[in-house]
Amino acid sequence: MKQRLLKQSQSEQKGTILLETFRPPIVSVLGHVDHGKTSLLDAIRKTNVAQKEAGGITQSIGASVITTKEGKKITFVDTPGHAAFSKLRSRGAKVSDIVLLVVAADDGVKPQTKESLAIIKAEKLPFIVVFTKNDLPTANLEKVKGELEKEGVAFEGRGGDVIAVSVSAKTGQGIEELTQLISLLAEIREIKGDPSSQLEGIIVEANKDKRGILVSVIVYNGFLKRGMVIYSASLQVKVKSLFDANGIPVNEIIPGEPGRILGFSQIPVVGSKITSTKQDTKEELSQKHVGQGQLDGINIILKTKTAGSLEAVLENIPKGFYIVSSGVSELNESDILLAKSLNAKVFLFGLKIPNSIKSIASKEGVEIEAYQIIYELIERLQTILESGKKKIVGKAEVIATFPFENKIVAGCRVLEGKIRKNDRLVLIRNDQELGITKALSIRKGKDKVNEIKVGEEFGVIFDPQLDFRIGDVILSVDH
Ligand code: GDP
Repeated sequence: MKQRLLKQSQSEQKGTILLETFRPPIVSVLGHVDHGKTSLLDAIRKTNVAQKEAGGITQSIGASVITTKEGKKITFVDTPGHAAFSKLRSRGAKVSDIVLLVVAADDGVKPQTKESLAIIKAEKLPFIVVFTKNDLPTANLEKVKGELEKEGVAFEGRGGDVIAVSVSAKTGQGIEELTQLISLLAEIREIKGDPSSQLEGIIVEANKDKRGILVSVIVYNGFLKRGMVIYSASLQVKVKSLFDANGIPVNEIIPGEPGRILGFSQIPVVGSKITSTKQDTKEELSQKHVGQGQLDGINIILKTKTAGSLEAVLENIPKGFYIVSSGVSELNESDILLAKSLNAKVFLFGLKIPNSIKSIASKEGVEIEAYQIIYELIERLQTILESGKKKIVGKAEVIATFPFENKIVAGCRVLEGKIRKNDRLVLIRNDQELGITKALSIRKGKDKVNEIKVGEEFGVIFDPQLDFRIGDVILSVDH
């Protein structure tokens, strides 16, 4: 296909096909850590940034557009890796049209290569294998290709149609060929946007600066225009200002391109969709790619050491649990992000919690429990079910916020029951759960305390911080 694609490109220099509906493809980069994903993105941008723009891009907005030598645009999702990808897709939105699966030519297939392949397969995404670090004397393409074939990748010329390109981010070798192939694959796959349809896009980044909350989006369909009203989950937003990927004020963003919006009154969740019509937030949250989660039930992610034990645990799980994802593999960062986005608990059977994951899980407020004996795991699940209804011990409202050192203190008043320092604290806004956190410290006046009773006021620093606001509700939940 590569030869065919390249030949086709030469005969279609001026693009006689229906370009009005073709839009720039949106591309994500996946692959194992240290295999060169970030360097590849840098090299692609360096090779393709027009002279006048060089040096002009100072701040990443979560996505970037490049123009190939042939004048074709490609949009890249700037944060590479499957953890970022999972985070984006965990809200149910489409993330990209094409994936670059990066595999270092000197290292071969590694655990995150396999996980990336699993995502590619589950999402049925077109992908190109990019062998990086080809300048190294230790590069061994044949060996690495063989390893990928063992994982079910069928390369073109070897019985399949998966395209592979070898590149070096260091020397620039292969980078132009890669971008050419991406835009040709996009044409073959007929990646199109419908400019006349309703607006559809995804939030890829959100932060605050002196202008206010800036939200980076990629538009898939329809036009995003200055002045229009858009929706993201339960938020309604008037687009006050709009900027393109280079920070230049614009009046509209066309399908396939990223932009930044000024106008949000609060920081939205990265990965949420933006639309020009009101969203049914429950429906959006339940459109997951993995399994059937349940917002009001108890969602769990289950990982086991062997396929046999997975089956045994699945057969014995009590009713009332929803398995959002299960598998026979080590726990990884994407599981944690998925657990966070679906408010799921993670259970391991026959496996240990990897050290690298412990800190991520505690930062994200995700609970992991590991078991070696099946009935202990099942008993624990039963206990969780039974205590499920009476676990809320108190409720408080955020009535003020103030900075303290480099953190923000939530000034709260207890509305019901009590708030306890060692409980899980659940942040709620408009009846929607925004996140789970813990108290780093609770103070009543100047004193550090462990418990606050109904009617009393207190200051709390959360860890993780969460994006709380005055009017939010905090639930203290026993566990
Ligand atoms: P990521 O974790 O996949 O984003 O990997 P990085 O892009 O951070 O690269 C990991 C390491 O590999 C860095 O030290 C890079 O300098 C090096 N590296 C990346 N691409 C190349 C390449 O094409 N050639 C060589 N020699 N080194 C590379």
